[in-house]
Amino acid sequence: MKKIYNIAVIRGDGIGPEIVDEAIKVLDSVCAKENFELRYEDYLMGGVAYDFKGTPLPDETIEGCLKSDAVLFGAIGGQKWDTLPREFRPETGLLKLRKSLGLFANLRPTSVFDELLDASTLKPEVLKGVDLFVVRELTGGIYFGEPRANDGFTGYNTMIYTKPEIERIAHVAFESAMKRRKEVCSVDKANVLEVSQLWRDTVNEVAKEYPEVTLTHMYVDNAAMQLVRNPRQFDVILTGNIFGDILSDEASMISGSIGLLPSASIGGKVGLFEPIHGSAPDIAGQGIANPLATILSASMMLRFALGEIKAADRIESAIKKVLQDGYRTKDLANYGAKEVCSTTQMGSIIADYVSK
Ligand code: ATP
Ligand code: MG
Repeated sequence: MKKIYNIAVIRGDGIGPEIVDEAIKVLDSVCAKENFELRYEDYLMGGVAYDFKGTPLPDETIEGCLKSDAVLFGAIGGQKWDTLPREFRPETGLLKLRKSLGLFANLRPTSVFDELLDASTLKPEVLKGVDLFVVRELTGGIYFGEPRANDGFTGYNTMIYTKPEIERIAHVAFESAMKRRKEVCSVDKANVLEVSQLWRDTVNEVAKEYPEVTLTHMYVDNAAMQLVRNPRQFDVILTGNIFGDILSDEASMISGSIGLLPSASIGGKVGLFEPIHGSAPDIAGQGIANPLATILSASMMLRFALGEIKAADRIESAIKKVLQDGYRTKDLANYGAKEVCSTTQMGSIIADYVSK
């Protein structure tokens, strides 16, 4: 019997709708090859939801996501809504959605496509073969800790983690490592921060349950340096909210283009899958956005939320072949393009390769 999955689709603002359309095109193409069906339901969120409903995150969007098997997300936000009071801004909606879905783990793979490397100004001798995976804690740490205040003279925030919070994110990292090269590097600042010492002790304890995985620890300042100096040394990087925010952005830049990188937020009942880039209002509506990050996010959805590993592999190898054959969107035109294509052309070519 055919398996059926319900997918909540949030297209959002800017290039969001354009790139999500292409991801769905590719998903439909992979479904035709495999024995499952995806049923999509659209929900409003972000600036577009504010315009139509007066709120960036309508209740029916939260409810719709909660009753689906996964959320496929484009991008939200734009200048038009930047001056609204905080509660009405698109980004506030996204924080609330993550919280409502209980998404405490943010996963960000960074891999370098060799097909792009040779023709680029990036340094092949440093970057060839980079394939790392950042596991960032997303709902705790200094971004959420209390007390917090700014009275005009003193400003402060609190970096706080409890043992159970560290344990559950550590398990995500070790489980991820088991499916990869079986190495975890935990990043903290244990030489200065008490909260980091608890982090380190707890990660050491969890590690005992994964004897096959090699665990190392690194201070965050060193990790930032090592990412630039020798990114190939990393497999899974496990870290807290603020360090992960910074390191995952740093890691993403070594792959060449912001239009290439996917992400997953998991841990709760329903995972959310989105490109790491924003809504790119500067290029919206021009048909030049790179849909690869969103298509790769859709592939992460198949892998991590639905367990359709073969389908995910199929999409990823189609993308590699498409790049090998020289197809590029405009942002990658200088990376060995034989043919520069539009957003929709790129989606169609990948869908076509998937069905071969
Ligand atoms: P946010 O605050 O939502 O993260 P941002 O201001 O950091 O957004 P992005 O929307 O990510 O910015 O865009 C940054 C730059 O990268 C812009 O010039 C944009 O056009 C470009 N860009 C982002 N995504 C893509 C894409 N998929 N394809 C091509 N260019 C992109
Ligand atoms: Mg940004």
